[in-house]
Amino acid sequence: MAVRRKKAPPGKAGPYARSVTEPDVLIVGGGPAGCVAGILLAREGYSTTILEKSRPGYHKICGDLLGARSLQFLHNLNIGWASMLGQGLPIEGIQVLDEKGLRSVAYLEEESGSDPVGATLKRDLLDRFLQQRAIEEGCNVLYGMRFQEFVAREDRAVLCRASTGEEDTLFRARLVFGADGAWSTTARAAGLFGRNSAVMLLAVRGYYRGIRRLRRTIELYPLSDLQPGYAWVIPLSLDTANVGLGIRADVCSRDGVRLQRELSRFVTQHPALSQRMKQATLVGAVRGWPLPAYGSVQRVSGSHLLLLGDAGGFVDPMSGEGIFGALQSAWIAVGVARDALRRGVFGERFLARYDERCRRYFDADFGSAALVTGFLAHPALGKPLAMWGLKQVEKNCLLDQEYARMIAGFFTGVCPRKRFLKPKWLVKTLFG
Ligand SMILES: Cc1cc2nc3c(=O)[nH]c(=O)nc-3n(C[C@H](O)[C@H](O)[C@H](O)COP(=O)(O)OP(=O)(O)OC[C@H]3O[C@@H](n4cnc5c(N)ncnc54)[C@H](O)[C@@H]3O)c2cc1C
Repeated sequence: MAVRRKKAPPGKAGPYARSVTEPDVLIVGGGPAGCVAGILLAREGYSTTILEKSRPGYHKICGDLLGARSLQFLHNLNIGWASMLGQGLPIEGIQVLDEKGLRSVAYLEEESGSDPVGATLKRDLLDRFLQQRAIEEGCNVLYGMRFQEFVAREDRAVLCRASTGEEDTLFRARLVFGADGAWSTTARAAGLFGRNSAVMLLAVRGYYRGIRRLRRTIELYPLSDLQPGYAWVIPLSLDTANVGLGIRADVCSRDGVRLQRELSRFVTQHPALSQRMKQATLVGAVRGWPLPAYGSVQRVSGSHLLLLGDAGGFVDPMSGEGIFGALQSAWIAVGVARDALRRGVFGERFLARYDERCRRYFDADFGSAALVTGFLAHPALGKPLAMWGLKQVEKNCLLDQEYARMIAGFFTGVCPRKRFLKPKWLVKTLFG
């Protein structure tokens, strides 16, 4: 049972801090990372509480695209995922459109087998579905409850304070999962928050209704003024799309890029899009949010604490896809938590195995993507190199469907990036 008490001043546990809720694992954040971790832990019989600062129906700023890996993960989780697919749009391929309107199209069914290569689903629906499943599996989900601070570390547990704004509640947990997104309070409270702007991305998106000729394909637009970065049109139906753009945070501040203005310019002036947007209307506001790309967080574990999803910086530095990193890091975290809970060991040294396992899983794919974007962010060489590389890639995509499918597959996660390192493809990219 939780014991409620009046709000205490910041940094103080207050006078009523004796009796508390005592879950095995306290999960901070009810997004994809937190919910999936909750589902897995509850299935193993651990008492699990999820704190979510928002109310049900919260809409995380996102591109709303689930790549092939995310779809497969959710399917394998046995949560009745198929029932949700009808509420989104299955995605069959990718179009890359340049500023002259030239396009290369890659349909990816062959690469992914019979499954769609992606699907779009609005984030309020996705998060609500996962929260509901977590509740059904036995998690205690507390809405409107914001994690505030670690009050005290004990030998076998950590004492945390959370608040509804009116009232504080204390939790004594054996482990805390920080799944609280890009501005992670848990990471800050543990001294693990340090964002390197060279590996952060910034992105904005808006919903537009009435776009002509939308298909079941993602549209990607590499823009010369936004390198390394790109703009997108991601259809949610054959009438409405999530339209946005993203770029590395350091390049954004270095070049004084204003993302909202760039988005409006993209929508109204891009030769391959503006005609189709003539009758479209913006639904709601254009909103932006940071994406902590892989490498932006140095350590993802601490005493009694593991950082998951955006809180741990598990976003693909090239595509900006973060939902898969959230799901997969939750899976890895639950494996480590199982060992820790069985042995009753929660120290920094023991939990460092989470860092190791995450590195083993993500380094090859996300690490190599971070290297490439780092190169393309070079102030003098980056832009010309990026545009030359993109032209080569586009040219090859137009002429060679196999090549186009591979490139599109990198984006959706259908193809491992290391396939690109085969001499055949390197030579083709460099010399056509
Ligand atoms: C514009 C944009 C477009 C994107 N497009 C895509 C895309 O198309 N596909 C894709 O895969 N990824 C995309 N991403 C990235 C993706 O949105 C994130 O990587 C993903 O949401 C991470 O999931 P998460 O569970 O780690 O964190 P989140 O989804 O951010 O969830 C964190 C949760 O924690 C809660 N919370 C925060 N602080 C506290 C606190 N102190 N106490 C309690 N609760 C708290 C929040 O309310 C939130 O519900 C995009 C991001 C942006 C900004």
